[in-house]
Amino acid sequence: METEILKVTHLNKFYGARQVLFDVNFTLHQGEVLTLLGPSGSGKSTLLRTLNGLEAFQAGTLTFNGQPVVADEAHWQKLRQKIGMVFQSYDLFPNLTVLENITLAPVKIQGRPAATVQAEALALLERVGLSAYAKAYPRELSGGQKQRIAIVRALALHPELMLFDEVTASLDPEMVRGVLEIIKQLSQEAAMTMIIVTHEMNFAAQIADRVLFLADGKIVEDTPGQQFFAQPQTKRAQEFLDSMD
Ligand code: ADP
Ligand code: MG
Repeated sequence: METEILKVTHLNKFYGARQVLFDVNFTLHQGEVLTLLGPSGSGKSTLLRTLNGLEAFQAGTLTFNGQPVVADEAHWQKLRQKIGMVFQSYDLFPNLTVLENITLAPVKIQGRPAATVQAEALALLERVGLSAYAKAYPRELSGGQKQRIAIVRALALHPELMLFDEVTASLDPEMVRGVLEIIKQLSQEAAMTMIIVTHEMNFAAQIADRVLFLADGKIVEDTPGQQFFAQPQTKRAQEFLDSMD
């Protein structure tokens, strides 16, 4: 549990002249589940996107597996194979089957043997209960199914860290549980290291080893999960939790 995967120091991020992240510092260890909570507009998505090279930052450092992250696109393309991300909108390729969606990057980008990758993809599909859909196209799937495929697609690259940004926010209520269940399994059975942004507080309370509470672009609390949900340290976080009931 003590191997450091990600270290963020003095991260500052601006959109134009407007600062949206202020001196963000935290460290993430292998197998740890970090839940990033905070009001809408507090900078959660921006922080996740910055950690995946989808947003530039103006000051601070990122260290991944002990190596400083160089802020150029070539380096980020390599890192994105290690840092998987799933968003609120499932962005599957519409013209590819489920299986092709999953195997494309491992074969084309990582150069792994197609047969191995395919076998693995089928096993992953089985794990999320979607084996029957290997040859289906995204349009034939429900939102919840698409989101499970999006997770499997990210996992097929063998990431060392997964970032989840409100992956159930656009799903019908009856679809939410299946997706959250997969994320829970990933943490429990695969000991996957994850940063999760979610509005599902029960889920967050069950899964979070640690909570980072963000408000106005600043980390207001960095607290063990149980402690945060039982008794947050700041009024700001308490108000946030009360508002989520
Ligand atoms: P959250 O995910 O916590 O709701 P965001 O990271 O999306 O918050 O947004 C943080 C702040 O940055 C908000 O004030 C938002 O309006 C602003 N913001 C987000 N994306 C952009 C962008 N592409 N350009 C300019 N401002 C942005
Ligand atoms: Mg967001």
